Amino acid sequence: MGAAFCCLTYNFSHKEEVKTAFDFDVQRSLTQSGSEYSGEIGMLQKISAWKDLRLATQEEAEKFIENNHEKWDGAMAVSFHIPNKYKSKEDAKAQKLYLAYQNLVREINKRFLERKSLFIGCKHCKSRISMKFVSSTTCPLCSGSFLSDTDKKRIEKAEAKYRIANDAAKVASKSEDIGWAVGGWASS
Ligand SMILES: [Zn+2]
Repeated sequence: MGAAFCCLTYNFSHKEEVKTAFDFDVQRSLTQSGSEYSGEIGMLQKISAWKDLRLATQEEAEKFIENNHEKWDGAMAVSFHIPNKYKSKEDAKAQKLYLAYQNLVREINKRFLERKSLFIGCKHCKSRISMKFVSSTTCPLCSGSFLSDTDKKRIEKAEAKYRIANDAAKVASKSEDIGWAVGGWASS
């Protein structure tokens, strides 16, 4: 008489749902493979140990059960993290929009600083300033912006898009998905 390692995984976080699904799978196994030394999941009968370890991967949870379950015991359930695909998608989107925003600011600043005229008039303090004293897009005298309303709006819009995506990514990172591996050594 030996033992065969059996394990099922459920991508539900709630124990009740996992228990219901496992009981169903046990019944199906008993019906299909019988109740004696089948080496199948039916031999484990029910979940007798819950270990909410939240291991990094499904494989680690299965390995843990394989190494810690004793033959003749009921099944062992070990939780693991389900990779949050939604989160990484949102992260990537926020990052892309952040880079777009940064590039737009760089491009507008570069275009402004490379202008050919020797002087610039500030529409805020009405000064006429030599470009020699201008090293940014703000007036050195009054700190008002030299940028056109169109450019300012483009930057604001790009920044707002990034902020919205960033907030969505933050919300996504809070959702924690766990699943359960359930199994053990079934007598065979
Ligand atoms: Zn000014």
